[in-house]
Amino acid sequence: MSVTVSHVRFSCPGCGRSYRAPGRLQGRQITCANCKATVRVGGGAVSGTPSTVRRRRARLLAWFAIGLGVLLLLWVLFLLTHHAHTVDPSLKVQAAQRLGR
Ligand SMILES: [Zn+2]
Repeated sequence: MSVTVSHVRFSCPGCGRSYRAPGRLQGRQITCANCKATVRVGGGAVSGTPSTVRRRRARLLAWFAIGLGVLLLLWVLFLLTHHAHTVDPSLKVQAAQRLGR
């Protein structure tokens, strides 16, 4: 028998009784048969940071990094093209003054 239903194991935070539920029930709230406490299937959310929040934060960080990279690339491109065509004369003067002193 090869049933492709994954089960999640979790334990009641109230009394420590271990449970096994089908994966599709993950995130649902059940009542513990032993101590009548509300238990979230799959655990996680009861204590500590839920994995979904951590994943969302990681994705946000990735997008932020990508945006920063694109901005940096655009800035470098702008500097390169800008300096290739028109060199700011004031920069030249400043450089000359710095060299003169
Ligand atoms: Zn319990």
